[in-house]
Amino acid sequence: MTFIQKEIYNYINGEFVSSSLGRTFENMNPYTNEIINHVHEGAEEDINLAVKAAKEAFENGPWRSLKLNDRLKYLYEIAIKIEENAEEIAFLESVDTGLPIKQTRKMAKRAAENFRFYCEMVKNRMVGEAYKVDDEFINYTLHKPVGVAGLITPWNAPFMLETWKIAPALATGNTCILKPAEWSPLTANKLAEIINDVGLPKGVFNVVHGFGEIAGAALVAHEDVQMISFTGETKTGSEIMKNGADTMKRFSMELGGKSPIIVFDDANFERAVDACIWGIFSFNGERCTANSRLFLQEGIKDKFIDALKERVENITIGNPLDNETELGPLIHKEHLNNVQKYLTIAEQEGAEIVSPLLPKGCEKGNFVPPTLLLNVKNEMTVAQEEIFGPVLSIITFKNEEEVIRMANDVKYGLAGYVWTQDIQRGHRIASQVEAGMIWVNSQNVRDLRTPFGGAKYSGIGREGGHYGFEFYTEMQVIHVAVADVKIPQFGKKKLQQMSKEG
Ligand code: NDP
Repeated sequence: MTFIQKEIYNYINGEFVSSSLGRTFENMNPYTNEIINHVHEGAEEDINLAVKAAKEAFENGPWRSLKLNDRLKYLYEIAIKIEENAEEIAFLESVDTGLPIKQTRKMAKRAAENFRFYCEMVKNRMVGEAYKVDDEFINYTLHKPVGVAGLITPWNAPFMLETWKIAPALATGNTCILKPAEWSPLTANKLAEIINDVGLPKGVFNVVHGFGEIAGAALVAHEDVQMISFTGETKTGSEIMKNGADTMKRFSMELGGKSPIIVFDDANFERAVDACIWGIFSFNGERCTANSRLFLQEGIKDKFIDALKERVENITIGNPLDNETELGPLIHKEHLNNVQKYLTIAEQEGAEIVSPLLPKGCEKGNFVPPTLLLNVKNEMTVAQEEIFGPVLSIITFKNEEEVIRMANDVKYGLAGYVWTQDIQRGHRIASQVEAGMIWVNSQNVRDLRTPFGGAKYSGIGREGGHYGFEFYTEMQVIHVAVADVKIPQFGKKKLQQMSKEG
């Protein structure tokens, strides 16, 4: 079995160090609710040290001035080491978060891919533009690194989401400080070990563990941090933007979702059922792009619901470390309580709750069985608020107009899924759903080149592909006069007159 350290330290300026407070907090296993280990609690002083190191590495270190291929060599090396350690990373992630190991193995692989991908992207797509302006100017644009990036991440897919931010931040020449979620510190620590082994220059990458309101807030308020890339709840995102306003931060915000899956009568039935089940119950339902609102056209409603009921009865629930497990425990008791509160609200609002009994072995864990909410109306709380658990709200509709109205009648706009065999309708509906990302006749399958992000309360900006460059680089335009361009001559007229007169 993989060795888990008793204490997790902060990683600042190339060293694993204790918290300045001399305090640790407990990290829990969601399957057993036993303490896994203790984590050094970072606070303002630790953030100050990390920012100082990152600033020094940015301004005076070799990182941003390295030849591109030399800089990227480090990142390729990180990718290799992630792959070499993929089994351990998957294990740590599953123990820490409760995500089934079959899924965390894929996430670890994907994380390695993120580093490779951004190396390719920076080499091939971080290109400027040139403008010939008549015969007077040549103007051209450059992408320059911005400086110190604060990266604040959630607990639902920690390793993968952290690498989504770290890879483009480093590849474009910035230095960074990662503040991982307090409930999922293990793989962030493993990544720090990998980066340390690779020998990245000191201060280029730092990790400060701790609580959002303390360590996270200090990072956001720090005047030497130029940008904050945040993934998490909408409410937190809004608070971060307020707290970062005084220091003129730039923000990338990947926030919550309540994404619709719209299934028309003519959909490929079996495939739509598969996609719907996977889209809500993978990642234990703790997935920002989860299709948590199912809109079923009336003609297939009964058949589809019967199929869903049959499936949820047979989803394998249990130990996240078991290769057969499809649904594990939620991350934390506190989150379990949140999800259970929504089930109480669902009942009070008149929804019918359908879920199987939990199997033996789940007694100590934070389990919610895969749950269907029937007879839901779009205005109910469970159709409007993000539950972030294995809970699917099911709503029926008659026609396109009605479903578009309901699908868009929500504050979020992250993702959406449309199932129909009528290709014209597929495109028509897709473009009318107010969301950053739509899939037609597919579950969430993402090519790393495409933009990732949400509309409305689901976010600001886009990660992924070359879209991330907008955030991680400062665009500069250089205007070069290639002719003697006419320059206004303020004051010259008077001077000429004066010299004439006297
Ligand atoms: P939170 O918003 O609670 O936390 C996210 C991170 O922010 C954590 O590291 C947290 O620290 C930190 N934080 C909390 N308060 C502050 C603060 N005042 N200042 C700075 N940092 C702070 O989100 P969750 O961890 O609960 O993650 C679930 C949410 O993430 C869901 O809403 C989900 O939809 C969203 N998400 C969005 C994705 C997207 O791409 N759009 C992808 C994945 C998830 P701490 O852990 O100590 O609270």
